[in-house]
Amino acid sequence: MEKIFFELFIFIIGASIGSFLNVLIDRLPKEENINGRSHCDYCGKKLNWYDMFPVFSYFILKGRSRCCNKKLSWQYPLIEFITGVIFVVVIKDSPYVESLTRTVLMLSILSCFIVIFVSDLKYHLISDYILLALFIFSILLKFVTPLSGIHALTIDILSGLIVALPIWLIYFVSKERAMGLGDVYLAAIMGFLLGWQAGFLALYIAFVTGAIFGLIIIIFKKKKLKSKIAFGPFLVIGTVVMLFWGEKIMEIIKRVYGF
Ligand SMILES: [Zn+2]
Repeated sequence: MEKIFFELFIFIIGASIGSFLNVLIDRLPKEENINGRSHCDYCGKKLNWYDMFPVFSYFILKGRSRCCNKKLSWQYPLIEFITGVIFVVVIKDSPYVESLTRTVLMLSILSCFIVIFVSDLKYHLISDYILLALFIFSILLKFVTPLSGIHALTIDILSGLIVALPIWLIYFVSKERAMGLGDVYLAAIMGFLLGWQAGFLALYIAFVTGAIFGLIIIIFKKKKLKSKIAFGPFLVIGTVVMLFWGEKIMEIIKRVYGF
């Protein structure tokens, strides 16, 4: 019973952070002030604290604002809910529980990925601020990892450059049409965070999921081949898969190819 209360508590903390991530998702690409969502998006009226309670408020208000009865985006409760679930899962059963600092850094990194995923999907833009935050959290994570040191850090930086190279090439050759500079930076952080082997696997996963998604979009929505699909979300998918299941995937590959 105690455990359920603890998990509910963690969920509420995660969902509250998710509420802040929603603010970052919509305001960073527009370079707006990020001082919380304490005012109504439509009429600017100050919101009551009980109307800002993550996930639950949306359902109590039946998806409409109390002040002016405008429809609220389902992005708010969805992101809050997903962030809450991620917090519970990471804290419950991951190797990161061993150290509180590691857990907090891991959750910060995942929070950055949520912002990048949604804002790139929605606005085709990855804010430099969120990339910088992600990079800083990644460096800090390296410092609390037992294997860290100048030598290890050099390899991590080289890994970042190597993994970013193919994305940079696509960016360069397509003259920014297929990939943006944000994708290049994101790929560099992926390589830095995961190492070059897992980094390349993450790129591979990104290309495969991106291609599958692209085909589905073309078949069902009859979108033209030319229409743009953001690549950032797929880079995020690849990285998160490798962060959580990387060791298992690498083990399988090593067994298959007999390294
Ligand atoms: Zn309003």
